[in-house]
Amino acid sequence: TKGSSPFTRNHADKLLDGLFPFGFDEGSCLSRSQSYLYKKASPHKPSPYLISKLRNYEHLHKRCGPHTRSYNRTMVMLKNSRTNVITECNYIVWTPVNGLGNRMVSMAAAFLYAILTDRILLVEFKDDMVGLFCEPFPNSSWLLPKDFPFSNNQGYAETYESMLKKNKENNSKEIFPSVLHLKIQHTHHDQDMFFHCDHSQHLLLKVPLLILVSDQYFVPSLFMVPSFNQELSKMFPEKDTVFHHLGRYLFLPSNEVWGPISRFYQTYLAKADERIGLQIRVFSPDLTPYETIMNQVLSCTLKNNILPNFTTEDSPRKKGTTLKSVLVTSLYPEYGENLRTMYLTKPTVSGEFISVYQPSHEEQQKANDHKHNMKALTEIYLLSLCDVLVTSSLSTFGYVAQSLKGLRPWVLYKLLDKNIPDIPCERDFSMEPCFHTPPKLDCMQKPIDDNRTAFPYTRTCLDYGFGIKLV
Ligand code: GDP
Repeated sequence: TKGSSPFTRNHADKLLDGLFPFGFDEGSCLSRSQSYLYKKASPHKPSPYLISKLRNYEHLHKRCGPHTRSYNRTMVMLKNSRTNVITECNYIVWTPVNGLGNRMVSMAAAFLYAILTDRILLVEFKDDMVGLFCEPFPNSSWLLPKDFPFSNNQGYAETYESMLKKNKENNSKEIFPSVLHLKIQHTHHDQDMFFHCDHSQHLLLKVPLLILVSDQYFVPSLFMVPSFNQELSKMFPEKDTVFHHLGRYLFLPSNEVWGPISRFYQTYLAKADERIGLQIRVFSPDLTPYETIMNQVLSCTLKNNILPNFTTEDSPRKKGTTLKSVLVTSLYPEYGENLRTMYLTKPTVSGEFISVYQPSHEEQQKANDHKHNMKALTEIYLLSLCDVLVTSSLSTFGYVAQSLKGLRPWVLYKLLDKNIPDIPCERDFSMEPCFHTPPKLDCMQKPIDDNRTAFPYTRTCLDYGFGIKLV
């Protein structure tokens, strides 16, 4: 009951039902204390067990974080011995590959892996990512120190594959490197490294420092590890809420990014009766006609009553007062411009008013560009403040927005030979990101024919037949 709660309703909302820890200075990260004002309370509550795991993790992070005594001692030990070291703290270092969406999904997966294996997550943000996010863990930092001795492949690090191979060949005496590169990447062809199996997780446990190179949301493979499965089910009784909770916990826009987000929202979205996010990601713009995509977006939104159809004349009887705001995110300006023009030129059959805004049009994906990443985060976050989402197949940019919001989006299907598929879009069955490179072999090295029977809590993704996601 309300009376017995230690929080007022607002307090509970503000701390996202216990997801956020106490003890942060509000001014240093305004989004942590203000973001709840921009969205309704999520219907998905974090489990008490997840909250206790987060608090324990924060403790461990504070004890082992950068430049603590434990950290310093561990680094000295790792520098001095290359194999079979036992250290007081163990680490996983996340390194950046690919665009911001890919980075955010792999960071969330790395964090969950850190929690499961009592490792400390440190992130290597180069100049293009510095200052995008607030520090997530109280009284410590998650940033990899500049003087970290194993950066940029300096020193020595074995790869996960070579360790597996060595230990297979050398049954009598197992040798564990102190530092190891773990690649879980879209371009990494050797997908069957048995990362999802207990036998290889037992080996990894003995390696104090993992350097992760991943652009993947490999959370489903963590659920496949038998020894993690029970723990994960306790942490996430609703399996499709993993990113929703971890993403909201980890990815708080810094004040520099929160300013534009909150001002854009107040200026263009706050007053609308409904906010519709259209995420239009075109992977090969040269091969994909703009008109076709625009028609697909219209066909999807009109058919499914996301946007109202046009009519020729204003009906005097239909004096609408409803305002729908459409947030278009795309690298290309045409989508927002044309949609805006359409709704200004013709009235809607419903009498609703449709305002259309597109915050930026960068024209192309840019690497190593801080401003570009700030815009990307601003737009991902703004999409997550919408009430309805239409997203593009295969885009992690859209995945992050939908799961931050906790919403199953309408997914625009990929064009078939430049033609719009008969069903232009469909409502997704889960808000989780899709894992694009699931294992192909089970732990006994037999091909996995059907993920659904092998792992009942996963299903083939709607937008990518080789991918799987949690349901
Ligand atoms: P994905 O490639 O769609 O899975 O998403 P990623 O976020 O990993 O990579 C795409 C990158 O291109 C983004 O991080 C942005 O830098 C840029 N980008 C793609 N679409 C948009 C968009 O709609 N708005 C902005 N600002 N940037 C975009």
